[in-house]
Parts: sequence; structure tokens; C-alpha cells
Amino acid sequence: MSPLHVIVIGAGTGGMCLAHGLRRAGISVAVYERDRTRADGVHGYRVGIDPTGNQALRECLPPELFDTYTATCARTPAHFNVLTERRRTVASFRLPESTDPVHSERSVSRMTLRQVLLTGMDDVVRFGKTFTHYEHGADGTVTAFFDDGTSATGDLLVAADGTGSRVRRQYLPHAKVRDTGVIAVSAKVAVTPETRALLPEEVFNGISATFAPKGQFCIWHVMEFKWDRDGEVKHGVGGNDAELIARWPGLLYDNTRDYINWGFSASARRFPPGVMDLRGEDLKRVVLDMTPNWHPDLRALFRAADPGSCFPIAIRTSEPVDPWDTTNVTLLGDAVHTMTPGRGVGANTALRDAMLLTRRLITVRDGAPLLDAVASYEAEMIPYGFARVADSLAQNGTNGDDLLHRPVVGRAVLAANRTFFRAVGRVPALRRRFVDALVAYRAADA
Ligand SMILES: Cc1cc2nc3c(=O)[nH]c(=O)nc-3n(C[C@H](O)[C@H](O)[C@H](O)COP(=O)(O)OP(=O)(O)OC[C@H]3O[C@@H](n4cnc5c(N)ncnc54)[C@H](O)[C@@H]3O)c2cc1C
Repeated sequence: MSPLHVIVIGAGTGGMCLAHGLRRAGISVAVYERDRTRADGVHGYRVGIDPTGNQALRECLPPELFDTYTATCARTPAHFNVLTERRRTVASFRLPESTDPVHSERSVSRMTLRQVLLTGMDDVVRFGKTFTHYEHGADGTVTAFFDDGTSATGDLLVAADGTGSRVRRQYLPHAKVRDTGVIAVSAKVAVTPETRALLPEEVFNGISATFAPKGQFCIWHVMEFKWDRDGEVKHGVGGNDAELIARWPGLLYDNTRDYINWGFSASARRFPPGVMDLRGEDLKRVVLDMTPNWHPDLRALFRAADPGSCFPIAIRTSEPVDPWDTTNVTLLGDAVHTMTPGRGVGANTALRDAMLLTRRLITVRDGAPLLDAVASYEAEMIPYGFARVADSLAQNGTNGDDLLHRPVVGRAVLAANRTFFRAVGRVPALRRRFVDALVAYRAADA
């Protein structure tokens, strides 16, 4: 028997974590990515990695690269704030502090995480390879074809090609991904003394959610890294982290610098037609036109966004799919269970899939039948993946059908939401319970 060879389509969060895990386990793996270079693609926003994601990264990445990952995260938010559009604080919750490498929350820039995951993988990742379709071979292999006329053959094909997965469309044509009817606009604002002054201290040091009339919502993250505008390690950064960052080649490809990330969303019906085709200044103008009553400092941050970082996202969600017969094609991450950003667990679930599939494929390396291992992965992944899809969709506001988006009743729901947060914020026992539940959800699978 020839040794197992795994073909992964997509060098995103899940695909690269899997590739590291397999390589560490001595399993042959090749990743095919449509982007032409490691700096291509839209990688502009903050991703919150929870204990599940940290655990997967620690298990799959080489130890020094895991340390580089933790060193390249932004500082961890100290508060979760609920704000009105007039920038009044409805409630503010102190988040637990932890320096534990796994049992902690981490803020990472998507571009930085990508650069970490691509580090040391030049011999594994092939760029400029857009997957078109696959075919099963008579000898039990599977061959992936690319739009440049080339192909690659292996024992297992893993779809890690995200929400629009072409592998899924061929393999599970009945599996549907639908628009939730909500559009988000995300952008970054460089942290300067002027932009910093636009946010109160607690907001600057935390994660903040603005719930506003008409179902409008905005999330605010402040990302401060251990390196400065010139990419030099900041003064005061400790020895080990300073050394890891200084010798990390990924920073050469990563233009991430301290930023404020805002993500504004509303029902698609509230946006002007054609918004999905807009970018940059035109898109900022749309957000400004939709928020005339918002606090001037928040609007100043909409205005100050780097136009190159501003893009629209149609929020999508997978529909539950019944288990299918296992073959030597499988899926992970958004390719199988796209979820709304409601709970901030899409990347974490993709990482969990990668860890689980790595574990199952290690049994194949050690002699177990491939299809048994894939079946065992799918039997576990499908239920937890779709449970996360449902939880994320149920979160206030990420589903266009939510009452919050209705004209009259939406006002009442917003008022109830504020009353709830005010009450929880004022009663110490309720505050504790709220924070404990938040932490427990995100640590549940670690
Ligand atoms: C605004 C926003 C905020 C988010 N915040 C969070 C958060 O805080 N926490 C969290 O856990 N999740 C978050 N998510 C979700 C998270 O980003 C995704 O769930 C995660 O990136 C999915 O990883 P993946 O590996 O499945 O897909 P991706 O990371 O999307 O990777 C897919 C890869 O496949 C490649 N590809 C696609 N098609 C082809 C093809 N035909 N051929 C070859 N390559 C192809 C793509 O170029 C890409 O590199 C957020 C999402 C958004 C939009």
C-alpha cells in the first residue's frame, strides 16, 4: 500500500490548520489555493479565536509557530460593552483576563493569522490553482482539476474552499447556502491620537456592540499589536515575543498595523440597490447616509476608515443537510457549515474540524481503513457544525427575518434588548452569570 496522500482545496483557516496537522503527523499533504500569492484576498477583519480554536492550533501547528501565533495576536479586549447609537453605555462587562495559551480569548487579524498559517509551508501550498471539479479514479484515488489545465491526484480530497465551495456544489449539490437577508460593511481605521480620542476608554479597550433603531448594528474592535507602523517590535514587548516576531518572515507579507475595526450591519432591505458592488468611499458614504442620528464620533470613525479596507458582506448561512454516504471526498469549515458571525465561531469551528480530521487521519496512517476514519470524522463534525450554524443564526440581528428588523415591532424589541442589558449590567449576580455563559459557550469544545 502506498502512503496516504491528502489533497486540500483552499488555504484558508481550516485548510491550513489541517495541512499543518497532517504534516506534523508525517502524512503527505498538498494544498491548492486560487489566490495567486500569499498576500492576495480580502483578509481585513478581526477574528476572535476561542479556546476551541487555540486548542486546534496548538495541536496542529509546530510548537514555535503556535508561539508565533500567540505573539502576533492583538491585545485581548478587557470589556464587552453594549452601546446605543448615541454612544451611551447600556452595559459594560469586564471580561476575564487569562494568559493561558489555550484557555483564553484571542483577537487576531485575519491577514496575520493567514500569514502565520502559511509560514514554513512553501512546499505544501500551490497558489494560483482554482479548483474546477474532481473525478474518482478506478483505483480508489480522487483527482482534482484546476482551471489552468493541471490536476492533482490523492487518496482523499478535502474541501476547505469556504462558503462558495465548488467541491460541495459537485459533491453535495442538494446542500444549500442561503442569504440571511442581512448585509454587513466592514472597514478599518488606523489608530492615531485623533481616532483613539473618538472612543471612550472602555470602548477602546474592549469589544463593543451598538444596537440601533431599524435593526442597525455595529461591532467595534480595537486591534493593537506588538509591532509599530514600521513593522518594528514595540518598546516594552517582552524578550520571547520580541524575538519570535523579529524572526517571523510572515510580517514581510502582512501590512497589518494597529486599527479600529467596525462592522456595520442592517437588513438588506435598508441598503440602497447595488450596495454589494460598491467599495471604498462609495460604501462609506452609504453607511454615513444610513446613520444620520448616530453620535458624531462614531460617524467620524465611519468617515475615517481606510477606503481600501471597506467591503460589503452578504451574511450567509448553510441549511442543515442530512448525513451522506462517506467517500474519499470530505469537507470542513465554511465549505460545509457556513454560519453567520452571530457567535463569532465560524473560524473556530473550521479549526476544530481540522483538528478532528487530523486525529482521524492519524489512525489511517497507523493502519485503519480510510473510509472508516472519514465516516467517524463526519459523524462527529456534522452535528456540532450545524448546531453552531443554528446558534449563530439565532443570535439577535444576523437573520433578516428577526423581529429586530421589522418596522414597528423592531423598536419594541430594541427597547426590550436595552432593558435586558441594563438589568443584567446592574445586578452583580446577573453580570457574573452573563459573562460565565459567554465564556462557557466559547470554551465548550476545548
Ligand atoms: C466579518 C466577519 C467576521 C468574522 N469573525 C469571526 C470571529 O470572530 N470568529 C470566528 O471564529 N469566525 C469569524 N468569522 C468566520 C470565519 O472567518 C470563517 O468561518 C472562516 O474563515 C472559515 O474558514 P475556512 O477555512 O472554512 O474558509 P476560508 O478561510 O474562507 O478559506 C477558504 C479558502 O479557499 C479558497 N478557495 C475558494 N474557492 C477556491 C477554489 N475554487 N479553488 C481553490 N481555492 C479556493 C479561498 O481563496 C480561501 O483561501 C467571521 C467572518 C466574517 C465575514
